[in-house]
Amino acid sequence: MDYVLNITDYYFFTPYVYPSTWPEDDIFRQTISLLIVSNLGAFVLYFFCATLSYYFIFDHSLMKHPQFLKNQVSREIKFTVQSMPYISIPTVALFLLEVKGYSKLYDDIEFPHGWLHLIVSVISFIFFTDMLIYWIHRGLHHKLVYKHIHKPHHMWKIPTPFASHAFHPLDGFLQSLPYHIYPFLFPLHKLVYLGLYIFVNIWTISIHDGDFRVPRIFRPFINGSAHHTDHHLFFDYNYGQYFTLWDRIGGSFKNPSSFEGKGPLSYVKNVSEQKCSNPSENGYRNDKLSNGELTKKE
Ligand SMILES: [Zn+2]
Ligand SMILES: [Zn+2]
Repeated sequence: MDYVLNITDYYFFTPYVYPSTWPEDDIFRQTISLLIVSNLGAFVLYFFCATLSYYFIFDHSLMKHPQFLKNQVSREIKFTVQSMPYISIPTVALFLLEVKGYSKLYDDIEFPHGWLHLIVSVISFIFFTDMLIYWIHRGLHHKLVYKHIHKPHHMWKIPTPFASHAFHPLDGFLQSLPYHIYPFLFPLHKLVYLGLYIFVNIWTISIHDGDFRVPRIFRPFINGSAHHTDHHLFFDYNYGQYFTLWDRIGGSFKNPSSFEGKGPLSYVKNVSEQKCSNPSENGYRNDKLSNGELTKKE
């Protein structure tokens, strides 16, 4: 974050916002700047990517699903907007430690070993965070914790891209913790860290985008929107972030219902086809709901 802080200080904060006598490395000034920058960055990234995903990727027929809530999109956005500033407070505390030099972030790359290390660090960051998020997420489903912290994110049974960051503040922070822990334990290039941080936020949006297609070759490994939507519907399965690895090790893997032709999109399609052939009949919906095929009780 010191890159971001240096750039914003140079072009914005020093000439236009703070008195020139206030040193750039003063901790109060850095705290205020980091709070502004991280909130602005998070909101811009969320609204830009989730809006694109909502209009160009999300299948809007999912909104006809009986478990899609009334005014759901605006409720997801409202929840996110209320939570994000709170999530940024502990996050900025960690950014401050990093800016003050307590992390293992570095900014010089030597050829060739530096580049080799950089590639290895990207892979290790993704596997490290995937493992920790799995266990943190699984812990959040423990009955003593779930209803206090994680339940709001499961309010959306058929999530849209705007649900991607709609968390209780503590939930949002805990699930982002692995990304912040990594550079305190392992060396990581500053720009790679920034890039990966943006990438994980986009990935989080992508697993809520209602596009259940995954190339067949990747289906056994990648945790996509089909897997995560089943997590929203059935709770105890598919806790993962990028890969299905830890769900398979932890015994919580479930082949997505969408891959078996029983997902929410097939359901909506079947209902509308049935309505077309017999407009007075809506028994399909009621039968399926009462049989518990659509979802699972918490
Ligand atoms: Zn969950
Ligand atoms: Zn989710």
